[in-house]
Parts: sequence; structure tokens; C-alpha cells
Amino acid sequence: MFGNPIGHSKSPMIHRSFAEQTQQDLSYEAILAPVDGFAEAWQQFVATGGKGANVTVPFKEVAFRLADHCTLRAMQAQAVNTLYIEEDGRLVGDNTDGAGLVADLIRLGASLEGAKVLILGAGGACRGVIGPLLTAGVAVVHVANRSVDKALLVAGDFNAQVSGSGFADIPKQPWTLVINATSAGLHGSRPDIDESHLSHCELAYDMLYGTEPTAFLMWAQQSGVKCIADGLGMLVSQAAESFQIWRGITPAVTPVLNKLQELMQQ
Ligand code: NDP
Repeated sequence: MFGNPIGHSKSPMIHRSFAEQTQQDLSYEAILAPVDGFAEAWQQFVATGGKGANVTVPFKEVAFRLADHCTLRAMQAQAVNTLYIEEDGRLVGDNTDGAGLVADLIRLGASLEGAKVLILGAGGACRGVIGPLLTAGVAVVHVANRSVDKALLVAGDFNAQVSGSGFADIPKQPWTLVINATSAGLHGSRPDIDESHLSHCELAYDMLYGTEPTAFLMWAQQSGVKCIADGLGMLVSQAAESFQIWRGITPAVTPVLNKLQELMQQ
């Protein structure tokens, strides 16, 4: 896994657990690449026998440009979190974040067929999940962002099921699923949206995760939303999807998620 910083990364533990569970011989390390030196770090990795890797902040967009070929979901995300080399030597870029989110929503019992989804935030994470949510059968997706132009830009890259606005202009619709894809929670805050948008919400989901519920999740709960969840399950599920791409085996997510939750409570 390439990132900067990497100190907080849970990916080595997750992939080693998957390897143990599926009896795969796998070496998975976190590699700290210089902020302006991802391509060189990748070449060095390949020269020493590396075959595939995850990519995280701030390299997802550079990895997208570096890949010889990208999957549709990576093209929609304009970002790559999974790299692998094909037999013909081509470097392929994929993005498993959206599949990870959809798998986690299903694990949580969310009904996606026909759902009206409100996504807060218009960064890379938002871009990466829209395609997989539509494929999973959601009816509409509205992207609301602090910077309105970014929300409109993202919405414009998808079909008519996807719209965009600022936080103050979110259409009044019965949003059944509200997803926080902003990084506001990193600073203890939440996107500034009206509480009325939560009145039909069956699940409030924050892609961010930590030892305590995020400001957004606490607010959603206080506003009467029955089911809240953070992005730890998405993290483990996107890793499972990457593992499947590299190894052709789908590992079980729940035991690894439980172990991670236990470790985080210590
Ligand atoms: P980006 O930096 O690409 O985008 C950040 C987004 O957050 C932008 O839309 C930005 O709005 C918005 N934002 C930042 N601060 C605030 C604030 N105070 N109030 C309102 N909006 C704010 O980040 P990513 O899209 O890559 O990631 C978003 C979040 O998703 C992060 O918390 C990340 O950790 C999490 N994530 C979790 C994953 C998982 O597996 N669980 C996977 C990927 C991401 P603006 O455009 O106006 O600046």
C-alpha cells in the first residue's frame, strides 16, 4: 500500500488477516512514498518483484494517470486505489471504494433498490461510489457540496439520475440514505445541511471512521435516524474486493471487521 502518511494505515493488518484466512502466501507492507515521487516508488516496487498494490491519499489521482488501462469504475472515480500488472505487462488501475461501500450497505441491511441517496461531499470518494450505487439499483443520487461548482461538475459526469447543488439548495425529497463523503469529521465538524433532509432517512453513513462516532453521525442520531454507521466496514470491504482482484478468492469480511473494531476499542 502506497500512501503519505501511512502511520495510521489499517490495510496491512486487514490484508494479512485475509491471507491467513484464505491460506494465501502474501506479503503486504505500507510504503511511504514521497509526495511528489509516486511513479518512482512504484517502479522500484515492481523492480523488486511487486505485482499489485493499494494506493491511498494523496496518490489516487496520480495512480489513475500512471495506469496503462483503467476499469470503468476507476474512470468514473478518476482515481485508482488498486493497481495490478496483467500478464502482458500492462498496468491496470481499478477503484474498489464504491464496491466496498455497496457491500457494507448491504451488510447493514440497507435497501438500495429504488433508494433516494443524498451524498454530502464531491471529492474523490464521492465520485468513486456513484457508479456502483447506480449499478446496485438506487433510483437517484444527489451530490451536495460546500463548493457548488464541484458538485455540479461531478453530477454532470453521470446520467440524469444524478444531480448536484450546494448544501442550502438540496431538493426536498424523502432521502432514504444520507452518506457523508466530506472530510469535515477530521476536524470534528459536519456538513451544514438542514435537519429536514433526514426526516425519511433509514441509514446515515459516514465514510470516515474512528474510535468515536463522528459529529455527523451523532447529529443524525440526535435527529432521530435509527441506523448510523461509520466507514470501517467500507474500508474492510474495499480491501476484500482488492484481494479478490489480486488472488481470485473473496475473503470473509465480518471476522476481520470484528477484529478491527475490537482493536480500535482497546
Ligand atoms: P477529498 O479531499 O477529495 O474531498 C473532501 C470533500 O470534503 C470535499 O467535497 C470538501 O468540500 C469536503 N469538505 C472538507 N471539509 C469540509 C467541511 N468542513 N464542511 C463541509 N465539507 C467539507 O476527500 P475524499 O473524497 O478522498 O474523502 C472524503 C472522506 O471519505 C474522508 O474523510 C476519507 O477519509 C473518507 N474515505 C473513506 C473511505 C473508506 O474506505 N471508509 C475510502 C475513501 C475515503 P470542498 O469541495 O468544498 O472543499
